[in-house]
Amino acid sequence: MRAMILEQQGQPLVEADLPAPKPGPGQVRVKVSVCGVCRTDLHVLDGELAAPKLPLVMGHQVVGTVDELGEGVDAFSPEPPVWKGDRVGVPWLGGACGRCAYCQEGRENLCDDPRFTGYQIDGGFAEYCVVDADFCFRIPENYPDLQAAPLLCAGLIGYRAYRMAGAGTTGLVYGERLGFYGFGAAAHILCQVAKHDGRKVYAFTSPGDAAAQDFARKLGAVWAGSSDDAAPEELDAAIIFAPVGPLVPVALRAVRKGGTVVCAGIHMSDIPSFPYNILWGERVIRSVANLTRKDGEDFLALAPTIPIKTEVTPYPLDRVNDALDDLRRGRFTGAAVINVMD
Ligand SMILES: [Zn+2]
Ligand SMILES: [Zn+2]
Repeated sequence: MRAMILEQQGQPLVEADLPAPKPGPGQVRVKVSVCGVCRTDLHVLDGELAAPKLPLVMGHQVVGTVDELGEGVDAFSPEPPVWKGDRVGVPWLGGACGRCAYCQEGRENLCDDPRFTGYQIDGGFAEYCVVDADFCFRIPENYPDLQAAPLLCAGLIGYRAYRMAGAGTTGLVYGERLGFYGFGAAAHILCQVAKHDGRKVYAFTSPGDAAAQDFARKLGAVWAGSSDDAAPEELDAAIIFAPVGPLVPVALRAVRKGGTVVCAGIHMSDIPSFPYNILWGERVIRSVANLTRKDGEDFLALAPTIPIKTEVTPYPLDRVNDALDDLRRGRFTGAAVINVMD
């Protein structure tokens, strides 16, 4: 099969011709149609996530068709069953131990021994990948493959962050003001959810990124400006999507007493020290880690009811490096998706 592989962190991906993988017990093989590009891929590429398997096929927002079933995958397992020909999505969480305290509590996103797609497991920048049948999702029918891909990480981990933004003392209610710092793939999806829920989104982008600000307004943000600007109103909560630690005190200064600042990314630069009085008043800072399968089921059921529309920039498989570079430099709005069939 054709694949783009990471041989060494810090180096561009290289084209490779690999044997197509065979599904083991409990696994299915997916013929990949498309795979979304995520900022986490940049953290793997750059070495900020330090322990990938090498060589590695990155990519963890896979949409494709099941074409082979491993041993033990049948009408009884998993539940609901996965059949040959089913269209499925493969997310970042590719496996959890099922035994640790976190798994037992239903918090498999915090599993002590997790396996991540496109990090410890080969992912979707290739013609085929193999996935635990228990850890793939049904894709809602009304989403074409390209439009579905960004739902699988940007969407559903973003949705986890969105739900956590209401975890302060009051919880978010209709009409409340939500700040988004960084307006990329996740924010463009969650802005639509927030608008649907009757909340007001304030979009803070990199200074001078007029395209992202226009895009935010188009998607329903009531205000868009630079992260250097003061928020025009006091915020009830904020989500930081950009991997930029100095935004934490900026967001804390913008939220009211009792408000929550959620750090939604897997990696962030160091957070500078800040005076205690900007945290005082029962403000909360928290991170959001990974996803649970329930997050995925909830979000993929919600997406078509709003309906969320994703804006995607497609690239063929042999241009993954360009897609990653364009993401790094903010050259597109919305989400980049690799079209593996191209
Ligand atoms: Zn991701
Ligand atoms: Zn576990």
